[in-house]
Amino acid sequence: YQRIVLAARPRGQVAPENFRLETATLPTIDDLKINEVVIKNHYLSLDPYMRGRMSKAKSYAEPQALDQTMIGATAGQVVASRHADFLPGDYVSGMLGWTEMAIEDGAALRKVDAVILPLSVYLSVLGMPGVTAWYGIHRILQAKAGQTLVVSAAGGAVGSVVGQLAKLIGCRVVGIAGGEQKCAYIVDELGFDSCVDYKKFASEEELTDSLAAATPDGIDLLFENVGGRIFDASLARLNPYAKIALCGMIAGYSANSDNAQALKNSGKLLTMRATLQGFIVTEHMDVWPQALAELTELMVAKKLHYKEMIAQGLAAAPNAFIGLLSGKNLGKQLVRF
Ligand code: NDP
Repeated sequence: YQRIVLAARPRGQVAPENFRLETATLPTIDDLKINEVVIKNHYLSLDPYMRGRMSKAKSYAEPQALDQTMIGATAGQVVASRHADFLPGDYVSGMLGWTEMAIEDGAALRKVDAVILPLSVYLSVLGMPGVTAWYGIHRILQAKAGQTLVVSAAGGAVGSVVGQLAKLIGCRVVGIAGGEQKCAYIVDELGFDSCVDYKKFASEEELTDSLAAATPDGIDLLFENVGGRIFDASLARLNPYAKIALCGMIAGYSANSDNAQALKNSGKLLTMRATLQGFIVTEHMDVWPQALAELTELMVAKKLHYKEMIAQGLAAAPNAFIGLLSGKNLGKQLVRF
C-alpha cells in the first residue's frame, strides 16, 4: 500500500517537496495483536490544522514527526479484525493519516453508518468540521434569533455549517468568502442572507464598506476562521457586547512574520466591550456525542447542504492540500482512494 510522509518542514508556503510518497507493506493478518483492526481507507480529510503540525513552532499540539505518515482523519472499511466490535466490511472513521491502509486499535475507531448517509460526510458535517461549527455556535456564541452573525471562510467545511446552523436558529447570516462563485453558492444553495467577496476589493476601505452594506445593523456574533485583514474588517462592525468565536486564523498559517496579523480595529474589542473566545474543538470531546447526534438528525432531514471537492488518489493529496491553503476548495476538501 502507499502512504505519504512529511519529508521536510515548509518555510512559508507549503510545496510538493515537503511530502514523500512511499510504498509500505502491512504485517500479515496472523501478526495482528488483540483489539487491532486493519482498515482500507476510502477517503482522507485535508484540513488547515495540518499546516500547523508541519512546522516546529510551539502550539496546542505536538508537531508532526519527520518521515512519519502525515496526520489526518480518514474514513474507510475494515479488512480484518481482532476486535470484537469490528467485522470485515464495517465502515469506520479514525485518524489513520495520509495512507491507503493502516492498522489501528479498535478503541481509536468510530463505527459509522454509510447506509443512511454517504461515508465521506463523516469527515465533514458529521466529523470534526461539523462539531467545530456546532461548538462555536452553541457553546461560545450562543446564537439567538434576530442576531446578525458573520462567518469568514464561509464556503468551507466549517463556515458552511456555521452559517446554516445560525440560519436554522433564526439569525441574519452574512458570509465572507473569496470569489464570485463561492459567494453565489453561499447565498443560493446554503441560504445565507448575503456574502461579501473579499477578493473583489483592492483596498481595506472598500472591503469594510462592502461589509458595512451587508451588515446594516452591525455584527452581534462573529465566527472567525481567517484572521488578518478579513478579521479586521469585521471588528470595525462590532456591536456593543458582541461575541467572537475565534476558530481559525488561516490567513497567517503560512506567514513568516507576525505582522501578517496586525489589526487596525482591535480597539473595537474594548470600546464595544466584546467577548472573544479562542477554542480547539478536540479539547471538548464531551460535547461531540450531542453535537454529532444533532448534526446527524439535521443531515437525515436534509436540512444541511454540503459540497465536497474530491482529489483522486493518494498522490494527488499534496497539491489538493496546497490548494486548500490558498482557497481553491469549495466546501470540504477530500481525497478519494
Ligand atoms: P475550509 O474548507 O474553510 O478551507 C480553508 C478556506 O480558508 C479556503 O477555502 C479559503 O476560503 C480560506 N482562506 C485561505 N487562505 C485565506 C486567506 N489568506 N485569506 C482568507 N481566506 C483564506 O477549511 P476548514 O473549514 O476546515 O477550516 C476553516 C478554519 O477553521 C481554519 O482556519 C481552520 O484552521 C479552523 N478550524 C479550527 C478548529 C478549532 O478547533 N479551532 C477546528 C477546525 C477548523 P476563501 O476562498 O473563501 O478565502
